[in-house]
Parts: sequence; C-alpha cells; structure tokens
Amino acid sequence: MKIKVMDDILRANDAIARDNRNRLDEHGVFTINLMSSPGAGKTTLIEKTLDRLGMRCRVGVIEGDIETSRDAERLEGYGIQVIQLQTGSSCHLDANMVSQALGELDLKKLDLLIIENVGNLVCPAEFKIGEDHKVVVLSVTEGDEKPLKYPLMFRESSLLLINKMDLVEHTNFNIQEARQNALKVNPQLEIIEISCTDDQGLEEWDRWLLNRITVPSDTPTT
Ligand code: MG
Ligand code: ZN
Repeated sequence: MKIKVMDDILRANDAIARDNRNRLDEHGVFTINLMSSPGAGKTTLIEKTLDRLGMRCRVGVIEGDIETSRDAERLEGYGIQVIQLQTGSSCHLDANMVSQALGELDLKKLDLLIIENVGNLVCPAEFKIGEDHKVVVLSVTEGDEKPLKYPLMFRESSLLLINKMDLVEHTNFNIQEARQNALKVNPQLEIIEISCTDDQGLEEWDRWLLNRITVPSDTPTT
C-alpha cells in the first residue's frame, strides 16, 4: 500500500519538524522555508535580504542543494552563519536534514533563519521542516499558470513573492492571472511583487519579515 507508506514517512517527518520548531522557538529564531523552481532567484533574494537587514537582525542561512555548495559560497562573504546541506539524490529537504543543520548553528546568535529549499515546485511543499512560514518565489520568466499546476506549493505557503518584475514587460506573464490563480488555490496567500535588480517591492518584503522577527533589545533595562 503505497499511500500508507507515504503517510508513515510524513508522520515521522512531522514529528521531527515539531522538534525543530521547538528548538527554534526556544531561541526566538523566526524561520522561513524558501521554495521555488530552479532559477527563480532564491539565492539572489537572500543576498539582497542580507544587504538590507543584516545590520538590523542576526540572519543565518541553510542552503539546500542536490550537489555543489555554490550557493553557500556566494553567501560566505557576508560573515553570517551558513550551513550547506547536500541532499544527494533527494529533491527536497526533510526535517531530519534540517535537524542536523540546526545542530551546527549557534541558535542563540540568530533572530532570522532562512532555509533555501532545493529548487523544485513539487515535494518540498509536502515536508514540514520546522519553519514558521513557507514562502514561495515565482518569477515572471515562468508561467502565470504555475499556481494551478503546482497547487500544493501555493496552498502551503503564507507568502508568494512574484520575482523579476523588472523583466515583466519582456514576457507574456500576466500578473493579474498569476494573482488570481494563486488566490484560487489559497485565498489567504499574501502576495508581493519584487525585483532584486531594481529593488521594487523589497521594502514591503523587509516589513513582512521585520513584523515577525523578535530582535532582542540591546539596551538592557537599568
Ligand atoms: Mg539557489
Ligand atoms: Zn523531493
């Protein structure tokens, strides 16, 4: 019974995800699970976020990739805590992999943890990893029908970032269609249009994060 096996796998995964979440909550680390298809701009968005928020809160990153540590190397210059997870044959992160990465991070020194999932619009949506929110990135160089083709990803996410807005006039991507399709599968979904080239929408993205991050006060009460 294939369905039963998958149920068991997901149940075991969810228990570890709850553990991860508890560890992160204990240290007040707000955590997002950043997902998209390959090439939608997740790593560039993380670089932008570090540029913009790095002075205001302590950010750590877990990079999930099937092979290579190129994305983690891109982030090394920021002097932040970065862990590379190489998933080998697995096309998604699961809670157990993230649990191992958490063991390598000094959680006491983090306010925000960004977990970049493997580029894939299918199974990353099925696996909780301990995040507070899933965030999906859809770039305008992909199709505006993606939310209908991969509904679980959009249903599970709290926020949709429509990326590469600077390129939209060169594509036949229809923003209204994309929004309607996304809201059809998830009426609660928040949507922000962004570009990491001209910084469009990034203030709104900053605000979305900062509203949810708890930064410990550095002025001790006397
Ligand atoms: Mg990447
Ligand atoms: Zn997978």
